[in-house]
Amino acid sequence: MRVIFFGPPGVGKGTQAKLLSSRMQIPQIATGDMLRDAVSAGTPVGLQAEEIMHSGKLVPDDVMIGIIREVLGSPRCARGFILDGFPRTLPQAEALTALLEELGISLDRVINFIVDEQEIIRRLTRRVSCPVCGSIFNLGVKDPGGNRVCPNCNGELVQRDDDRPETVIKRLSVYHQSTEPVRTYYLQRGILVDIQGSGSVKSVHEQILALLNHS
Ligand code: AMP
Repeated sequence: MRVIFFGPPGVGKGTQAKLLSSRMQIPQIATGDMLRDAVSAGTPVGLQAEEIMHSGKLVPDDVMIGIIREVLGSPRCARGFILDGFPRTLPQAEALTALLEELGISLDRVINFIVDEQEIIRRLTRRVSCPVCGSIFNLGVKDPGGNRVCPNCNGELVQRDDDRPETVIKRLSVYHQSTEPVRTYYLQRGILVDIQGSGSVKSVHEQILALLNHS
């Protein structure tokens, strides 16, 4: 199964990608996570991306396309993948189409998550994650105890630097300007389906399984 999870930041793509990944035994390819790892490791890509990510803008297309080319061509993606956070621009979508053609494979579905914008802002500014196990929590909704310790592995929960309110507003405006046209790109190719991302984690997961004919 080869799918793209599409939509603005904060709609639950990462949470749902993790669930589907473990259910279907295919990797979640989260470009934001890969970039954050590169920043922590101080690689050349990380050094280039750090300031851009901090300000809520997009990392250049050539860098992102290079990352995706490497990962999709690797054996770990042989059985399929869930792309989470890529493509985010039309040139990225076009490059992905060319790359998949080159690899002789095609996408099964693009799932577009829909959540009201006020809800997105509320979710993002309350989001914390565990740097050790990758779990994501929403303070106040699924409060892991208020002491900011991960209930799964005892790691210290942290807020993402780019989840500050002013950066969230910037990221949403970048989404509308640069990423939204990608929705039409896949709609025209007949593989995009909309999904309401505002239900419970479990109900959204079940909707996704039904859409993918996998239960
Ligand atoms: P995310 O974790 O998906 O919200 O991504 C965090 C940040 O990483 C974004 O705000 C961008 O700065 C950068 N980023 C992630 N994926 C991409 C992409 N496909 N194209 C450009 N920048 C990206």
